Amino acid sequence: MADLESFRRESRAWLEENCPPAMRESLHGEADICWGGRKWKFKSEAQRLWLERMAERGWTVPEWPREYGGGGLSREEAKVLAEEMRRLKCRSPLDSFGIWMLGPALLRYGNEEQKQEHLPKIARGEIRWCQGYSEPGSGSDLASLQTRADDQGDHFLVNGSKIWTSYADKADWIFCLVRTDPKAPKHEGISFLLFDMQSRGVSTAPITLISGNSPFCQTFFQDVLVPKANLVGRLDRGWEVAKFLLAHERDMIGGMGMGGGETRSLSQIAIEAIGLKHGVLADTNLRAQIAAFQIDAKAFGLTMDRVSDMMKQGKANPAVSSLLKYYGTELNKRRQELVMSAGGYAALEWEGDESHEGRASRAWLRSKGNSIEGGTSEIQLNIIAKRLLNLPGE
Ligand SMILES: Cc1cc2nc3c(=O)[nH]c(=O)nc-3n(C[C@H](O)[C@H](O)[C@H](O)COP(=O)(O)OP(=O)(O)OC[C@H]3O[C@@H](n4cnc5c(N)ncnc54)[C@H](O)[C@@H]3O)c2cc1C
Repeated sequence: MADLESFRRESRAWLEENCPPAMRESLHGEADICWGGRKWKFKSEAQRLWLERMAERGWTVPEWPREYGGGGLSREEAKVLAEEMRRLKCRSPLDSFGIWMLGPALLRYGNEEQKQEHLPKIARGEIRWCQGYSEPGSGSDLASLQTRADDQGDHFLVNGSKIWTSYADKADWIFCLVRTDPKAPKHEGISFLLFDMQSRGVSTAPITLISGNSPFCQTFFQDVLVPKANLVGRLDRGWEVAKFLLAHERDMIGGMGMGGGETRSLSQIAIEAIGLKHGVLADTNLRAQIAAFQIDAKAFGLTMDRVSDMMKQGKANPAVSSLLKYYGTELNKRRQELVMSAGGYAALEWEGDESHEGRASRAWLRSKGNSIEGGTSEIQLNIIAKRLLNLPGE
C-alpha cells in the first residue's frame, strides 16, 4: 500500500507537470480524439506533445511489458494512474484498435518477431489498425466468412471483401480473418492475418452513417500478396485468436457505459444546460433519472473492476465479456438519451460537425451502433443464456 501511495504521488506530480492544459479540457467532439498512424495530422502541438510524453513513459499502454513499449505497471498501479488522470481531467493520449484489440491478441498469440515489430509501433501511435472481421454475408454468423487466403508457397493470396470496416480509409494495417481451408467445418478453416493497407490490391469505399459521419468502409481485396510471416497463431486455427480479440473488443465497447472519453459527468452537463434551483438541478424529473443512472453506472464500474481482477487471476468465465458489453452499451445509450433531455431544443442542433454544435445529437445517434458493433445485443444475450446461465439451447 505504501508503494502504491508513493506511486500515486509520483504519477500525480508527473501528470501535473507534463499534461498540457489544453489536454485537460473536455473533448469537443470526435475530432479531438488522437488516433495516431502514418496519415495522422495532430490537431495541436499540445496533442502531439501529450502523446509523445505519455508514449515515452510507456503510459499509452501502462500494463504492457516495457520491452514492447509499455509501462510495465501492475494492475493496481494502472488503476491508480487511471484515477489520477481522471482527477486531473487528462484526455486519453491515444485511442486505437491496436491498443484495445490487436495488442492483447499479439501478446497472447503472436511470435516474438511479431510482438517486436508491431507492439512498440502501436504503443507510440505510429501505426493505426483496422479490423477486418464482418463481411457482406457474415456478421453475427461471423464464422461463415468467405474471404479466402490461398497458399502460394511463401505467401498467401487474399481475395474477397469486408464490410463495416471502421476507419479502413484512415488505417495503415488491418488484422483480418480469412478462410484458409474451404473444406473444413466453418470454425476450423479460418486464419488470422496482418497486412499493410497500402498493399497492392487493397481498396476501400466509405459508407455514411445516420450520424452524418463516415467512419466506415467496405474494403476490397484483389490478389493481395501477404507474407506467411504475417500469420498470427496457427494456420486454420484463427478462430481462437478471433474470439480472444472479440472479448477485448467487447470489454472496450462495454467500457463506453462509463462515458467514453467524456470528462464531464452527466450531472455537470445537466447543470450547465439547465442550471440549479435551491442548490440542486432545476428539473426534478431529470434529477431523479440522472441519479438512477449514476447509481447504475457506479455499480457497473465496480463490476468492471471486479471482473477485470478476476480475469487477471484466470477466474472469470470468458463469456462475462458479453455481459459487460450488453450492459455497458445499454448504459451508454441511456446516458446519451439523458444528455439529449438535458439539452432540450439546443441538443437537437445538427450543424457544426467538428465541435459543440451538433455534438450531442451526433453522439446520441452514434450510440445506437454500440449495441450492434462487436456483436449485437441479441448475440450477447444468446451467449449469456448459454454460457453464463447454462440455459438449454441448440
Ligand atoms: C458502429 C459500428 C462499427 C463497426 N465496426 C466494425 C469493424 O471495424 N470491423 C468489422 O469487421 N465489423 C464492424 N462492425 C460490424 C458489426 O460487427 C456487425 O454489424 C455485427 O456483428 C452484426 O452483423 P450484421 O450487421 O451483419 O447483422 P446481422 O448478423 O445480419 O443481424 C441482423 C439482426 O439479426 C439479429 N440476429 C442475427 N443472428 C441472430 C441469432 N442467432 N439470434 C438472435 N438474433 C440474431 C441481430 O441481432 C440483428 O438484430 C461495426 C458495426 C457498427 C454498427
